[in-house]
Amino acid sequence: MTTRHTPIELSRRSLLVAGALAFSPSLAFARAATPRRPLAADDTGPAGPARFHRFKVGSIECVAVNDGSVTLGSVQPTFAASASKEALDAALDKAFHPRDKALLEFNAIALKLPTAGGGTETVLVDCGYGDAGAPALGHVQANLRAAGITPESVDTIVISHAHGDHVNGVLNKDGSLAYPNARYVMSKVEHDFWTGNPDLSKVGFPEQQKKEFIAGAQKHIAAMKASGKKLELIDGSSKVFSAIEFVPTPGHTPGHTSFVLRDGKDELFILADVAHNHVVMFADPSWGPVFDTEPDVATATRARMWDRLASDRSLVMAFHLPWPGLGHVRRDGKGYEWVIAATGL
Ligand SMILES: [Zn+2]
Repeated sequence: MTTRHTPIELSRRSLLVAGALAFSPSLAFARAATPRRPLAADDTGPAGPARFHRFKVGSIECVAVNDGSVTLGSVQPTFAASASKEALDAALDKAFHPRDKALLEFNAIALKLPTAGGGTETVLVDCGYGDAGAPALGHVQANLRAAGITPESVDTIVISHAHGDHVNGVLNKDGSLAYPNARYVMSKVEHDFWTGNPDLSKVGFPEQQKKEFIAGAQKHIAAMKASGKKLELIDGSSKVFSAIEFVPTPGHTPGHTSFVLRDGKDELFILADVAHNHVVMFADPSWGPVFDTEPDVATATRARMWDRLASDRSLVMAFHLPWPGLGHVRRDGKGYEWVIAATGL
C-alpha cells in the first residue's frame, strides 16, 4: 500500500487559488491562477508530489488518483443554497470546518480487474478535467503514470456522469485520445440527456456557463463514440463486469451512476458525485450544491444512499471529498457524518 502526498503542500497550493474563485466551480477552474505543475514519477524535485493511493478490495488492486484540488472562497451558496445560515454554521462548527472556505478535491480511481483468462483488465472510473483550461486540475494521467499505469494500458473507462471534471480527460489538449486503447462505458440515461436537449433550468449557473457545460459534455461524448472503440451504454443497474455493479444515483445529473466493486465479502462503494463536501451534504441530505441538475432528485438519492451506506457500514470512495476520498457514512442524530477511513494499514 502506498500513499504519497503532503498535506502542507496541498493547503499551500489550494490557498493560492482561493479568492480567484467564483461560486461556480467550472468558472472557478477556468479562472484559477495557479500555473500547472507537471507531477513527477516520484515525490522529489520541483514538480511536486505524486498523489496516488493503492489499496485492495479483496484481491482487486485499486489505485485512487488525484486530479487536483481547488479552494472555494465560501461554503455558501455553492454547497447548500437552501440551508439557513444558523443551521449551516452550526453543522460546520461542529465538524471543525471553516465557515468561509471549502476544499474541493478531484479524485478518480483505477481498478485492476481479474479476467477469465488469468490476466487483468485496467478500468479507470472517470478521467478528470484533462488539459481543458483549469490550471489547478488535470493531474489524473500523471498520477496514474506515477503509480505505474500508462495511458496505453487502460482498457476501459467507466464514466459516472458527463460533467467536465469527469470527462474532459478523455482528450489531450491537441484533441487526440488521452487513453488510446480504451473503450468507454456510461449510462444510457446520461448519454441521452446530454446529447438531447438538456434541461439545466434548475442549475444555479449563469446561462453562458450552462452552454459551456452542454458543449463540453457533447464534445467528449462524441470523442468517445469516434474513438474506434465501442461506447457501451448501460440501462439502469447492469453488470458489464462481474466485479462491478452499476447503481443509478440520479440528481446531480439525470444519469449519474455510482458503482459497487465486489470481491468475495469485500466491497467498495464508488460514490462519485453524490456528495461534494464532507460536512454539508451529510449533515442534511437536502443541502445540495447549486450545480445539481435535479435538486429534489439529488436530495432523495443522498437520503437513500446515506441510509444504505450507514446500515451496511460500507467502505466508500467519493470523488470530491478529502483525499484519497475513502471513508464511511455514520448516522448522527437526524443527519449523518462522513468518517474518513484509516488508510495505509
Ligand atoms: Zn465532479
